[in-house]
Amino acid sequence: MSLTSNPLLQDFNEAPFNTIKDEHFKPAFIEAIQINRNEIDAITNNTEAPTFQNTIAALDYSGQQLDRISSVFFNLNSAETSEAIQKIAQEVSPLLTAFSNDVTLNETLFERIKSIYAQKDDLDLSVEEKTLLEKKYKSFARNGANLPEDKKSRLREIDTALAKLKLSFGENILAETNSYELHLTNEEDLAGVPASAKEAFAAEAASRDKEGWVVTLDYPSYIPFMKYADNRELRKELSLAFGSKAFKGNEYDNQKNVIEIVNLRHERAQLLGYETHAHFVLEERMAQTPAKVKDFLNELLEKAKPAAEREFAQLENFAKTQDGIDALQKWDGSYYSEKLKKELFNLDDEQLKPYFKLENVINGVFEVATRLFGLQFEQVTDVDVYHKDVKTYRVTDVDGKYISLFYADFHPRKGKRGGAWMTSFKGQKIENGVNERPHISNVCNFTPSTPSKPSLLTFNEVTTLFHEFGHGLHGMLANTTYPSLSGTSVYWDFVELPSQVLENWCYEKEALELFATHYETGEVIPMELVQKIKDAATFQEGMQTLRQLSFGLLDMSWHGQDPSNITDVKAFEKEAFGNTALYPDTPETCMSTAFAHIFQGGYSSGYYSYKWAEVLDADAFEYFKEQGIFNKDVATKFKDHVLSKGGTEDPMTLYKRFRGQEPKPEALLKRAGLID
Ligand SMILES: [Zn+2]
Repeated sequence: MSLTSNPLLQDFNEAPFNTIKDEHFKPAFIEAIQINRNEIDAITNNTEAPTFQNTIAALDYSGQQLDRISSVFFNLNSAETSEAIQKIAQEVSPLLTAFSNDVTLNETLFERIKSIYAQKDDLDLSVEEKTLLEKKYKSFARNGANLPEDKKSRLREIDTALAKLKLSFGENILAETNSYELHLTNEEDLAGVPASAKEAFAAEAASRDKEGWVVTLDYPSYIPFMKYADNRELRKELSLAFGSKAFKGNEYDNQKNVIEIVNLRHERAQLLGYETHAHFVLEERMAQTPAKVKDFLNELLEKAKPAAEREFAQLENFAKTQDGIDALQKWDGSYYSEKLKKELFNLDDEQLKPYFKLENVINGVFEVATRLFGLQFEQVTDVDVYHKDVKTYRVTDVDGKYISLFYADFHPRKGKRGGAWMTSFKGQKIENGVNERPHISNVCNFTPSTPSKPSLLTFNEVTTLFHEFGHGLHGMLANTTYPSLSGTSVYWDFVELPSQVLENWCYEKEALELFATHYETGEVIPMELVQKIKDAATFQEGMQTLRQLSFGLLDMSWHGQDPSNITDVKAFEKEAFGNTALYPDTPETCMSTAFAHIFQGGYSSGYYSYKWAEVLDADAFEYFKEQGIFNKDVATKFKDHVLSKGGTEDPMTLYKRFRGQEPKPEALLKRAGLID
């Protein structure tokens, strides 16, 4: 097939879904990688002295065709995949990795960047340009570009070893999860378990050619059993099995892996000139230093602990009154919490759903964006889509100026992965004086309509829609010069601010009145129900907070100090949990050996960011509440200093410009009901 007829290699604006065929992708990737290679060669072959424009800016504007093709392809692989697409993904992923390694290891390119970086203070650069220069330089330096050959090769060894260790860490957890089953043949042992969960347990047993019921350590199986099963001994058995994953001294034990991972990470950080792995990671985060993260976690701990202890005492009391339980254990937690919650709130999804018809909620979130930022949304039908369920909107500002294209893809189907996310088909940038506007997409898996009923959302789905739309606004309102600093390209402990802050509108009377109307009667949701939602949302918030903080502190303990003297994983972990523990310790369990977030995934020295983002969003929303949740001045400040600025400046600076001060935890503690 000729390249000239490949729609992905033409100059396209909207992604040309109607003409793209699977077989277009691979040749398009190969060609676009070559184009990008040529662009980089042009930079390194330039005989003129390196300048910001001919090197840094040129590098950032390079590879645009490859970016467009990649976003079309990988978005499809998430939202509308097929065996053919998955096969192509396996073929092109190594090509992309190899190309990106070639760029990172390109010494001539780095020499040019380095020489510009050395003069950065004399170059009269704008704030955005300085940030871009810093980012480009760091992307090489943090991968060892400045090291002498011997150290470079040690770094590669460490990276290879770490990749293997992470893999084996994950494989061990999987093996341990799969090797366990709780096989029950006496129906009495399932007392308390709802019919739907029981059915799933029976199906699991049948799939293993067994009688009765099988409960496993997978969440959809484990959680309902721990929540509902009356049999305390069985809950204990299951809980200990869950907590001792990869901690039994067998071939799948992760203790050695944990020790090796933290030591290699430490060595890597030191090679690159950082005190610890946490120092290395946090250099590119809003929090910046381990000390700041530890202070942050400890301050919250101090303030949340009294509430957590009160809630725990309440739970202990409840369990004692209900069943005469004397010492509450880990395997009693979700069981009695569920019962207590029901007694206190008696709130279920079915009561709320009629007020949240999907179309009404979408109009609601659009209306919120109109009132805050003056945005208008007009559905358009002349844009190619990859599935007939996808809707497209043309977004304009208050003066009718074109802002963005918005794709909405809301229902589950075969070929779409689970969850909800925001993504883009085209980024925003200003090049040669032209402001290229972005194409943003929200993809979710909401309850679809049926022949007799429209799509009615649970409250959780409503907040999810607002959340993803908040990320969407960060993309749509982007207004930066350089593509790699645009929209959601910010430090990852800052990226959840726009999304989480928008969720707050879902709890406000003034906002709910705009869209939460009964799909049959048109009645606005009763405020008692809204109050109940709010109260239920903060149920056991102190205990939840303590749990999150304990994970954050454990993460910082593993990564914020020299780990070379640590020999006993369990003892170290117990020490790190310190005064966050509410339940008695069980010696046969260990969190670290199954803490995939930090040892397998990308969250090392980053677990704190869940709470960090909550502090930010609560503090930001407090400002709206003080001035009115639809106050135009506050909204404009949020747009001008946060949403439109992407990663062009240090996020703390941007935040302070919006808020007038650094974020404080009080608003979160108040919202969570932890302080008055
Ligand atoms: Zn998010």
